[in-house]
Amino acid sequence: MRDVSTVKRTNQLVVVGAGVIGSAVAWHAATSGWSVVVVGPEPAGTSSSWVAGGMLAPVAEAWPGEEISLRLGSASLESWPAFASAVSVAAGGTADRAPGGALLSAEGGLLVGVDGADRADLERLARYLAARGREVTALSGREARSLEPSLGPAVRHGLHVPGDLAVDNRRLLWALRAAARSAGAVFDTGWLAEEARGGRVLLRRATRNGPADPPPPGLPRTEDGERETRECDVVVLAAGAWSSRLHPRLGQLIRPVKGEVVRLAATPGSLPPPRRTVRGSVRGRTAYLVPRDGGRLVVGASQRENGFDTSVTAGAVRELLTDAGTLVPALDEYEITETIAGLRPGSPDNVPLVGPLEPGLLVASGHHRNGFLLTPVTVELVGRLLGLAGAAFTSPSTDTDELLSATDPARFTTPTGTDHVGEGQ
Ligand SMILES: Cc1cc2nc3c(=O)[nH]c(=O)nc-3n(C[C@H](O)[C@H](O)[C@H](O)COP(=O)(O)OP(=O)(O)OC[C@H]3O[C@@H](n4cnc5c(N)ncnc54)[C@H](O)[C@@H]3O)c2cc1C
Repeated sequence: MRDVSTVKRTNQLVVVGAGVIGSAVAWHAATSGWSVVVVGPEPAGTSSSWVAGGMLAPVAEAWPGEEISLRLGSASLESWPAFASAVSVAAGGTADRAPGGALLSAEGGLLVGVDGADRADLERLARYLAARGREVTALSGREARSLEPSLGPAVRHGLHVPGDLAVDNRRLLWALRAAARSAGAVFDTGWLAEEARGGRVLLRRATRNGPADPPPPGLPRTEDGERETRECDVVVLAAGAWSSRLHPRLGQLIRPVKGEVVRLAATPGSLPPPRRTVRGSVRGRTAYLVPRDGGRLVVGASQRENGFDTSVTAGAVRELLTDAGTLVPALDEYEITETIAGLRPGSPDNVPLVGPLEPGLLVASGHHRNGFLLTPVTVELVGRLLGLAGAAFTSPSTDTDELLSATDPARFTTPTGTDHVGEGQ
């Protein structure tokens, strides 16, 4: 692992990207006494963090062969309750409630299937998880319905996963921003990065953005009105799928993976939604329902690779509603409140890239379908690279050295110095 500690330390950090990763890194660094500026628009629209379902489910998302993902996810999940409490308090709320409401749901998850093939998949997953000491219970359709009465008759098999959590993504983004600001971080929404390099970010003025914070004091800059260069000690590149465009090494390594979701709300007289996250396999397709407060639900998600396209297609919405409605028929009575597509930052091995790209430049991106789950562990890893004291929310069992080597972007670099993405990835 290369080190960024060779750069001159005046503790000035520029974070590129204000999604969940950039905002959380900014909060931790500002709390640790760094002078922090986050550049980029407020997350909305196509930013992955704005669209996500918010499952914190390394077990439900686990799949044989993805051992590192399971280890990273499990380490991060352990830190989540303390992380959510710390964010809530720092945002001005109480340990279990940020000002806008609770961030976390601890109801757990239920994996369900409708036919024989789904059952075989669930059995394989149960064996894999049991072999790793995870608590999972196989259920019949009737037993699954006794836990979640809104499940329909098509559900024939289930797996109860008690430890998984879920987070309200939009509340968390708001709370992280508030927490980071109160620790002194500045969110500068007036600029977009054109390139991130060691200790330096080239910016161009953004055209349609909300009001920016007042310009931060002390950061050296040169500007010509429409473009400017910010200099600092360390840059953290956390621009999600767009990170691929901001450093030459990332063009091959990070790619956009489109995901569409439908947001629904129960109507008066309709059956209430499930309390737990329900993740189902319906004739080979995966659908999930993540409950939010007040009878609201996020139903997701499609997975398509079509560049930076963010259209919401009729076909995806139809499939999501058909599959989710097979699992919970009462959804037919619900109101559609939003359809939206976001771009997951994919990586070649589905493991994020957290580490140095060059002296004075760290990347924290490529979290693909697990960016919320992996936020606490990513914050801890970036903190280690910046030389910060361990975060109070980190689980003591987290082996940061092992995880840093698993997420090091240098894992894709051949001895000749070129990056490769491997075969079949
Ligand atoms: C449909 C869907 C469902 C998902 N469900 C889950 C889930 O249940 N659980 C889970 O853990 N994860 C989930 N994810 C994945 C998760 O959302 C992502 O891994 C995570 O949000 C990535 O965060 P990020 O901050 O790296 O990127 P983003 O949230 O995409 O943020 C990047 C930010 O960078 C900004 N930016 C872009 N270009 C520039 C530039 N040039 N200069 C400055 N800023 C720039 C963008 O505007 C954006 O705000 C889901 C994703 C999708 C799309």
